[in-house]
Amino acid sequence: MTRLTRADLDALPAYVPGRTVAGAVKLASNEVPYGPLPGVVEAVTESARTSHRYPDMGVAALRDRIGGWLGVDPDRVVTGCGSVALAEILVKATCLPGDEVIYSWRSFEAYPIIAAGVGATSVRVPNTAEHGHDLAAISAAVTDRTRLIFICNPNNPTGTFLRKDELDRFLAGVPSDVLVVLDEAYREFVTDPGVPDGVDVYGDRANVVVLRTMSKAWGLAGLRMGYLVAQPGIASAIRKVVTPFSTNLVAQAAALAALDAEDEVRRRCALIVAERDRVTEALRKLALDVPDSQANFVWLPLGDRTAAFAATCEKHGVIVRAFHPEGVRVTIGTPEENDLFLAAAEAALGSS
Ligand code: PMP
Repeated sequence: MTRLTRADLDALPAYVPGRTVAGAVKLASNEVPYGPLPGVVEAVTESARTSHRYPDMGVAALRDRIGGWLGVDPDRVVTGCGSVALAEILVKATCLPGDEVIYSWRSFEAYPIIAAGVGATSVRVPNTAEHGHDLAAISAAVTDRTRLIFICNPNNPTGTFLRKDELDRFLAGVPSDVLVVLDEAYREFVTDPGVPDGVDVYGDRANVVVLRTMSKAWGLAGLRMGYLVAQPGIASAIRKVVTPFSTNLVAQAAALAALDAEDEVRRRCALIVAERDRVTEALRKLALDVPDSQANFVWLPLGDRTAAFAATCEKHGVIVRAFHPEGVRVTIGTPEENDLFLAAAEAALGSS
């Protein structure tokens, strides 16, 4: 048969989303369990009245709002159909086929897919024994073909985090023609003051872009709204390759409404953080070496027990995310959901 698609895509693993199973509690996609924020459903309904028209392609009102909120020029803000789309556009805007993209492994599982999409070469740097980024090894992996480095902080799926002194040292050594993308999808759950806010601390650096999402803390996962903050020159290059109209009308309205509910977001994040610490402690009592997390999930380095553990959780009505063969990532849910998970974990580890 005549081949119409690229042969190299045959070997590319597909993105595997967290599964939804009827009747089971889903702790597999790092969503926040409390439903849409107040005002979001109304804004979505209202915006749908003009959904026969294209949205504002320049996303002016929302970029003004995000820029004002973050204290940056709105021209430096680019929005997209989820931050995963913006990550893809960043690779598209920096890499030609054969150029290299460096990231830790494990980190966000879309990075290899995104790199392969443009024919860039993925350079995976193994995490440290403590499950975090190995910044020295990442620096050592830079070549003259390196165009972009993803640093996910806190890291998905391990929840581990980098402190300012570590990032300062690392960034100082990155060549000026390599773009560093600080992926801060979980920034709102950070409570350790030593973990820098990328926009505040590194936003003025020429070769740093900060990537954020409204899917997690802001509860807009289903509407697909991500944003980034970049230097004006980078932002305008990115706008040229962004899919036209990809921040849709409803997402723009919902994001504005969500930003009005910032106090509620903070309240919800505080609940999640308290539960994160409780779940971590309970898992450590089960003799699991759970790293400290600054995100809304925890990492269970189960090794070859990964599949059996996930299957036992499912039997107990809890869907977790298994990353074979390293471990399991569990999203923090409501206290009741977390109790259900902890009971499943106890059953799984007791019988293994
Ligand atoms: N970055 C990281 C680290 C993530 O974990 C995710 C979602 N799992 C994303 C980006 C993408 O989020 P979204 O496309 O929903 O904005």
